[in-house]
Amino acid sequence: MMQPPPAQPGMPEDEVDTPALLIDLDAFEANLDAMATRLEGTGVKLRAHAKTHKSPVIARLQMARGAVGQCVQKVGEAEVLAWGGIPDILVSNEVVGRTKLARLAALQRISRVAVCVDDAAQVSALEAAAEAVGARITVLVELDCGASRCGVEPGPPVVALARQIAASPHLIFGGLQSYHGSAQHRRRPEERAAAIAHAVEVTRRSVEQLTQQGLPCAIVGGGGTGTFEHELASGVYNEIQAGSYAFMDADYARNEVPPPFRQSLFVLSTVMSRAIPGVAVLDAGLKALAVDSGLPLVHGRPGLRYAGASDEHGKLLVEDGTAPALGEKLRLVPGHCDPTIDRYDWYVGVRRGRVECLWPVAARGMMQ
Ligand code: PLP
Ligand code: MN
Repeated sequence: MMQPPPAQPGMPEDEVDTPALLIDLDAFEANLDAMATRLEGTGVKLRAHAKTHKSPVIARLQMARGAVGQCVQKVGEAEVLAWGGIPDILVSNEVVGRTKLARLAALQRISRVAVCVDDAAQVSALEAAAEAVGARITVLVELDCGASRCGVEPGPPVVALARQIAASPHLIFGGLQSYHGSAQHRRRPEERAAAIAHAVEVTRRSVEQLTQQGLPCAIVGGGGTGTFEHELASGVYNEIQAGSYAFMDADYARNEVPPPFRQSLFVLSTVMSRAIPGVAVLDAGLKALAVDSGLPLVHGRPGLRYAGASDEHGKLLVEDGTAPALGEKLRLVPGHCDPTIDRYDWYVGVRRGRVECLWPVAARGMMQ
C-alpha cells in the first residue's frame, strides 16, 4: 500500500514525519546543472540512469537540461517512465522471458524503448515479440568491457549478434552497451582510469569492426558517476549513463577524489530513545536505509556516529559534543543511494528549511 505523503508544501523541514526521503533542492539542481554544463559542446549526451531516481519528474528535469533520454534496468521501470511521457528509453540490461518481452513490445506504441542482448536466442525471442504486435524494437549488443557481469566478448561474438539483429525484420541494430560497473567505486583514481582505459580499448575495436561490416553504432553507451570523465574523454562513447550524480551517497564520497557533485539526498530521522547514556536511537534502521555499501553518516554532526542498524532502529554513538535531544530530527547520508530511494513512496523536496514539493517515487519496487 502506498504511504501517505510525510509532509505538505510550505511546512518547515522539522515537521516532516520520519523516516522520510529528502532532496535538498539547491544541491540537486546544482548537480543536474553541473553535469549538463560538463557535457555541453562535447558531442556526448547524457542518458541518465533512472534506476537511481525512479521518477518521470526527475527524468524530465534531466531532459530539460539536455539529456537525450533515460536508462532503466527493468521493463517495469520503462513502463512507468513511458507512461509518464518520456519518449526515449534504453533498458541497459538483458530482458528474458515471454511475458516481459510482450510488455516491452507493447510499450513501443508510446515510446522508443531499446534493449540490450548478449545471446542469439534473445535476438530471436525479441524478433518474435516485436513481430507479434507489428512493432520495431531497437536492440544494442552488450559488450563485456571488463566487469564480467553481462555482455559478450569483444570481436566476432559482437559482430555475429549485431548481424543477427540487423537481419531481423522487426529489430533495429542500435549500437553498443559497454558499461564497466565494478570500476565506479574503485577507490584510487588510477584504478578507475586503468579499468576504463581497457573498456575504451575493447569498445573502440568493436565499433571499428562493426563499422567495417556496414553496421554503424548509433549509440555507444556506458559510464557512471565514478568514471564518466574517462568515457567522455575517450572519443568512442557518445552517451553517458550516470545516475547517482543527481544525489550522491556516502560510498561515492569515500572514493579518493570523489565525483564533483554535492550530497543532495538525505534520510530524515527522529531520535526516539535516549535511555542509555552516550547513545541515541533513531527511527531509521535497515528498512529505511540500504547498508550494502556501508552505514549512513550523520550529516553536519561529526561527533555522532551511526554504529548499527536493526530493522527499525538506528543506533547512534555520541563520540563528541552534545547528544541530540529526544524528538530531534537528524539528516542521514545513505551509504548507497539507489536501493535507499527504492524504500520510499515520496521524495520531499526542501529548500532553505522549508518543504517545496512532493514527488512520487513512481517506479518504486518495479523489479520485474
Ligand atoms: N549504467 C548501468 C548499466 C548501470 O548498471 C549503472 C549502475 O549500476 C549505471 C549506469 C549508473 O551508475 P551510477 O549510479 O553509479 O552513476
Ligand atoms: Mn548504485
